[in-house]
Amino acid sequence: MLCPFCAEEIKEQAVVCRHCHRDLAVQKPLLDENQALRKEIEDLRRQFNSLQRTAILHRGSPRPTAQDKSAFAFSPRYVAVYLLLPILLLLAAHYLIVIRFDLREIVLRLVSIALSLPFGFALFWRHRSGPILLIVTATIVSIAAVGGMLAVVSLIDVNVPIVPRDRREWQEAVEQALSIGLAMGAGYMFARVAENLLFGTEGSPGPLNALARSIISLVAPSNNERDLKARIESFQQVLAMLVVTVTTLGSIYAGVKSVLN
Ligand SMILES: [Zn+2]
Repeated sequence: MLCPFCAEEIKEQAVVCRHCHRDLAVQKPLLDENQALRKEIEDLRRQFNSLQRTAILHRGSPRPTAQDKSAFAFSPRYVAVYLLLPILLLLAAHYLIVIRFDLREIVLRLVSIALSLPFGFALFWRHRSGPILLIVTATIVSIAAVGGMLAVVSLIDVNVPIVPRDRREWQEAVEQALSIGLAMGAGYMFARVAENLLFGTEGSPGPLNALARSIISLVAPSNNERDLKARIESFQQVLAMLVVTVTTLGSIYAGVKSVLN
């Protein structure tokens, strides 16, 4: 240890400094206490860091309680964002694609899928909604949107009734509704898959998390713990987005193939 007066190296047990000959008897207990406190702070800091790490793992996925969930279902915000908004967007898309620009049926199908998917995704990602609310939402949105589309067509063309006239028209309406509902379901499933890949299930970090951690500490190691954590976190987001994008493109490709055949 160092003498508090002259900063020369002295023995741990010294009572008098051999360099400056000052009395260390009064200083000694204070120094010891200081050292003990320093060690305690170091321990606490280590504990705090590990707690922070756990908090970061779960920050993207706050788990709402059952009360939160039931308060959200059919709240004004739910009705506006998850029922009215997708219905209006789908009707606007239908108006532009079919009536205004007279594009092919497949364009409407694709745009419907692209519009519906994020709502299913957000329903789980943001609100951790259960499958029942998803099914209710997808059913209401798909039926209302397709009903609205039929109504708009019959409003513009007086010769066309709202209710489909033959088997072909019925099939088209049902297919359109199904693609909206299924896209919502697909978005919901992607969110669940991404959540599991990223955060794992109850406590154990997911494989994507572990992957991000090992890649970052290999490619961009950092001595600064906070820096490293931030890098790992943003890399995880990129990985999750990649997984979601690839699965989405895959499902859209599958959907398009079935319409084209
Ligand atoms: Zn000294």
